[in-house]
Amino acid sequence: MRKGHWISNSNYVQKIVKKQPLVFGLFRTIFATNKQALTIKWQSMKSLDPKFIPMNQNDLDELGWDEIDILLVTGDAYVDHPSYGIAVIGRLLLKLGYRCGIVAQPDWKNPDCLKVMGRPRLACFVTEGNMDSSLSIYTVGRRYRKTDAYSPGGEIRKRPQHAAVVYTQLCKQAFSKIPVVIGGVGTSLRRFVHYDYWQDKLKPSVLVESKASILVYGMGEKAVTEITERLENGEPLAGIRGTATLLGKKAAEAFEHGNKYVVLPSFGAHKEDKDQLLESTKKIEFEMNPWCGRGLTQLHGDRMLVQEPPQEPLSTCQMDEVFDMPFAMKPHPSYDEKIPAYVTIEHSIPAVRGCPGGCTFCGLVAHQGKQISYRSEESIMGTVDQFLEDKNFRGTISDIGGAASNIYGNTVYDEDKCKKCRRTSCFYPKLCNNYNPDGKPLLSLLKKIKATDGVKHLHLNSGLRLALAVDDRQKELTKEVIHHHVSGHQKVAPEHLDKRVVALMRKDPPEDFFKYKKIFEEESKNANKEQYLIPLLISNFPGTTDDEMKVVGKYLDQENWSPQQVQDFIPLPLTIAGAMYYCGKDPKGNEIEVHRGLKERRGQIHELKRKRGKGGLTKRDFRRGHNQHRKDEVNKSNDSSSVSSGPNKKKRSNKRKAKNQTSD
Ligand code: SF4
Repeated sequence: MRKGHWISNSNYVQKIVKKQPLVFGLFRTIFATNKQALTIKWQSMKSLDPKFIPMNQNDLDELGWDEIDILLVTGDAYVDHPSYGIAVIGRLLLKLGYRCGIVAQPDWKNPDCLKVMGRPRLACFVTEGNMDSSLSIYTVGRRYRKTDAYSPGGEIRKRPQHAAVVYTQLCKQAFSKIPVVIGGVGTSLRRFVHYDYWQDKLKPSVLVESKASILVYGMGEKAVTEITERLENGEPLAGIRGTATLLGKKAAEAFEHGNKYVVLPSFGAHKEDKDQLLESTKKIEFEMNPWCGRGLTQLHGDRMLVQEPPQEPLSTCQMDEVFDMPFAMKPHPSYDEKIPAYVTIEHSIPAVRGCPGGCTFCGLVAHQGKQISYRSEESIMGTVDQFLEDKNFRGTISDIGGAASNIYGNTVYDEDKCKKCRRTSCFYPKLCNNYNPDGKPLLSLLKKIKATDGVKHLHLNSGLRLALAVDDRQKELTKEVIHHHVSGHQKVAPEHLDKRVVALMRKDPPEDFFKYKKIFEEESKNANKEQYLIPLLISNFPGTTDDEMKVVGKYLDQENWSPQQVQDFIPLPLTIAGAMYYCGKDPKGNEIEVHRGLKERRGQIHELKRKRGKGGLTKRDFRRGHNQHRKDEVNKSNDSSSVSSGPNKKKRSNKRKAKNQTSD
């Protein structure tokens, strides 16, 4: 019997206890450690932990499996790393005792390529990959990208546009009447009527186009657990938090909204009136709080999309359960070429989910939500130990990742207030009084990792949220980061320097950037380091006039900076900024200037890109930043106490324990 359960609201445990009393001893009840945590039961009859999720019949034979329960289909190459959503879901299913196989980047014109491991017993789970497939394929100028970071060798055209729709059809062709579950960030952002920038048109929900059985939005562990259990028991899939389903005509007519569901403008209404997209996006955002948010419905002709309220975020204990699963931390051995996206995260540590910032252009918050979940220090140190065992590890950890590094360990003073809160951002228009940007947890973690034998460098490439970095409660953390965790240059994201534009973005005021720059320069000097600040700036954000862009241009002139990276605005589905772009209005309904074609956009791109005079921050400075970083590395290498191939894992954790006891 291969079943498991991760949610506490079921009689399923009772059933199993009656049927198989012997396995009851294997049940584990895991209580979350933080106060706001859910109580979770995770009982696992026979968790499976192959080195990699099987990809073909040979892999199945080696494991001695005669079939798979679930087939995972993804648009990315398969990398068994917790930064990859499909790997997390696969590992979770294995942990629950389900045998799953994975087909990565299938030939979407050939249904037979899904049959390499036979028909799955329960269902197919489909994702476009770690990015929306259109975004993976096309640039902001709607041209083909030269590489696909999630493919071996960066090879392009390994996935179709609208991959969730295409793959779902492929699954249905390969296995008749198979239930198909779709999820992942691209699907999440396209779950309602949305504007597709690359096709330049309004589109219905991806659930309508794909005809999948159910759509999972947000981070999917809890929803997937419940869906799998229902599939196993032959139960209907409706009513699961964090999912959306489609009702036929009769069921739609009979559906009772009560106080639990809010009606969104229909697809037809959107087609007649452009402004409806802004209205519906605001309503969706308003209902995103998992504790007080309601369900949403949207008519597509006579069918009705029903979205259940969001799943509650994972507690620290649950995050640890997820991230401590036995990931190989590597691409599947069948790939000969390097996968560019993996190279950048090979030795980085995913630590935080969610973002309280609520920036209007960001797809992450529309997908992961505003509530922060983070791993415990112990779990993260476990990953550090794993790196130390890796022969490719040279002593540099490239990041402790999340939407921003300095949201790790942040808390709130009163949880009940948050459970009723409808604010779209905890930081905008000003930092909420209830938010505690506590810098101590990250500071403690950084110090601990820094003191670990075998770790030479720890960089924070996720960047810092400026409003928090300049807050007194993070003073010590900010200093520590600038002194020890900058890789020659540090990226920060003011995004713009005009007050009206940053307000439209819901970003920190420009003063925070100026304040941080001063701190950065002073502390770099104190640390006797030559390192540079790289401001990330956006051109052509909806509502930005050319005069407002010149505010940024003038500042760059004054500082003699030539930015290496220019982000030209891309309207993502389900974001307020995407709706502003489509409607040509700000969230209050005022008309705004929007630059659409490349010709209109060029002026603002040029304002950012143009080369400043001599001495500006150019490629040379980047090299100098790198040289400084290399110098540090050499210095550290000469210090034999800081470099070592490292004692074995057990010795290291014993050492750490001893250190902790001493400090206690
Ligand atoms: S009460 Fe404050 S901290 Fe809590 S969710 Fe609302 S804005 Fe954020």
